[in-house]
Amino acid sequence: MKKIATVALLGALIIPAFTAEFVTIGTGGVTGTYYPTGGAICRLVNKYKKETKIRCSVESTGGSVYNIKTIENGELDFGIAQSDVVYQASNGTGNFKGKKAEKLKSVMAIYPELLTLVTRKDSNINSIKDIKGKRINLGNPGSGNEATALTLFDASGIKKEDLKFAGTLKASEMPDALRDNKIDGYFYMVGHPTANIKDASNSVDVKITELSGSNIDNLIKKYPYFAKADIPAGMYKGNTSNIETFGVKAVLVTSDDVSEKAVYTVVKAILENFDKFKKLHPAYNNITKESLLDGLSAPLHKGAKKYFKEAGLL
Ligand code: GLU
Repeated sequence: MKKIATVALLGALIIPAFTAEFVTIGTGGVTGTYYPTGGAICRLVNKYKKETKIRCSVESTGGSVYNIKTIENGELDFGIAQSDVVYQASNGTGNFKGKKAEKLKSVMAIYPELLTLVTRKDSNINSIKDIKGKRINLGNPGSGNEATALTLFDASGIKKEDLKFAGTLKASEMPDALRDNKIDGYFYMVGHPTANIKDASNSVDVKITELSGSNIDNLIKKYPYFAKADIPAGMYKGNTSNIETFGVKAVLVTSDDVSEKAVYTVVKAILENFDKFKKLHPAYNNITKESLLDGLSAPLHKGAKKYFKEAGLL
């Protein structure tokens, strides 16, 4: 009898641990916007962990391309990625040429990210053409900013070799490199305002260079996932007027292999706390429940579809 009771007790202790599902969200550099976004999502998901048995954690990573590749090989469950990179992965183009991410699924398109060229004021970079001969950081391999900067280069007739130096520093290293005059500028595709650019503009005089002109207009016409947008005035020190550029959406993605329950739980946690979620980062100021379905370039995961249908959004 005593033996049976012990076994039963052990079973009761062990079973909950076995049934819990751990999910990890791949983000970006810790001073970017993906990282706090992953944190905001996990905070809401973990609020319900007792009932759902889903536990969420966040990982800082190299960004969009890395996240999608790592989801595809099953090492990450969720990730945040730029919609242009999601498109390339789903269609086997760009960084994913011949390596289509077959399992990649969308969960929701969260907020806009804008391509931002942060430069030292004393470098006199006033347009995209002015980066020729300069030291410019494009981003670490695996980052979305590197991917989009190279697309912009193509559209603008600029080659990496036209630069004095094409940097591959990680996002978190870029502000110090700018301050220490190791680079003249850096590209960052990011949701504003971001701690990264605040750090840069608080430590050296920066100029965020406008990305506009007919080449960029053509780029936006050619690719459905790019849209014109302004970085609003007042976000960073010295940024006194709106700055024209273009951007994409930051999309939460996952894999077909991730359970319907896990994806449903994540979507539900965000949607049912939407007003609270929106207050967690100023980059979400203008988003709506409807806009979460705008800018998806991989098919929706069945768990997301289920929740959006129940909520009458689909
Ligand atoms: N869009 C960037 C990338 O994919 C990351 C931006 C962020 O971390 O907020 O590399």
